[in-house]
Amino acid sequence: MSRFFSEKFKDLAPYTPGEQPKDFKYIKLNTNESPFPPSQKAICKANEQLGVLNLYPDPTCSELVKTASQLFNVEEDEIIFGNGSDELLYLSFLAFGQNGVVFPDITYGFYSVYAKVCNICFEEIPLNYDFKIDIKDYFNKNKTIFIANPNAPTGIALSTTQIEEILINNKESVVVIDEAYVDFGGESCISLTKKYDNLLVIQTFSKSRSMAGARLGFAVGNQKLIKDLNRLKFSFNPYNINKITMACGIGALSDEIYAKANSKKIIENREFTILELKKLGFNVLDSMANFVFASHNKVFGKDIYLKLKQKGVLVRYFDKERLKNFNRITIGTKEQMQILIDKLKEILEEN
Ligand SMILES: *Cc1c(COP(=O)(O)O)cnc(C)c1O
Repeated sequence: MSRFFSEKFKDLAPYTPGEQPKDFKYIKLNTNESPFPPSQKAICKANEQLGVLNLYPDPTCSELVKTASQLFNVEEDEIIFGNGSDELLYLSFLAFGQNGVVFPDITYGFYSVYAKVCNICFEEIPLNYDFKIDIKDYFNKNKTIFIANPNAPTGIALSTTQIEEILINNKESVVVIDEAYVDFGGESCISLTKKYDNLLVIQTFSKSRSMAGARLGFAVGNQKLIKDLNRLKFSFNPYNINKITMACGIGALSDEIYAKANSKKIIENREFTILELKKLGFNVLDSMANFVFASHNKVFGKDIYLKLKQKGVLVRYFDKERLKNFNRITIGTKEQMQILIDKLKEILEEN
């Protein structure tokens, strides 16, 4: 730390991203990326931009916004794009966090980091004994609510009816629903943004659209909420979406058939993986995401993580009370999942 660093950030603990190892070719099931490449249409569109990188990108993302608004059936002023959904989550903390925020104690690790960096008071509500969100815990909080739906790293989803209950009981607070994993079996509440002016839905291109490396996400909500987010964006980085990513995004949205087919494969591979894990004696939470969260009563979570790593399979381990016997396993191709299962069999036999 330099002697110039702001005092208020001295104790800030940054978010820990999953490992991106360069030393060895692992089967990477640790960061919930898609095992499939981006759509060919996205790649072609992106390629066309290389020769015009001398020009700034469109700060209003007009073509991308237009394409998305048609696809998701919302108005153009009800949508904003961000440099990954992470950027929009951060802007939402900044924009709507002044009366404090609440989120589950077990959820996306960035929420507490953003609250700290923005100097916002936050309350973490414990999940139930079975790792579920009890919606009543979120009624009339008078604080901005952040819920990942499906939640991470549990994979468990709330229904849109349950989200609506939360909205009805928080008319004076913004409710942010982070739908990073919604395309793997969950229900989106984008259409509820017409009915509730306090709802902001955030989605990403990183998971179901195979674009984690491009950094693209979007938020949908009442035009006033979107205007607030734009005000902050234009006060910080108007060119938040680069030309290559923007073109890639437009291409991806013109090829929803490809994204849907990939999500379908992931869901099939997930159900296969859950079945096989249960046969091996694992306890697996009900997942609506592109990962599963699993524990075993004979081998410690950390041992499974380390032994899988030795055998060339990387999964995500959280060294945190309540989570430390679990591993979060990203769903990849059928071949990758078969290797995972074979390695786990070996580990259980060696034990
Ligand atoms: C992956 C993920 C994101 C981040 O998405 P980016 O668009 O890559 O920034 C946001 N929220 C949750 C819950 C995620 O798992």
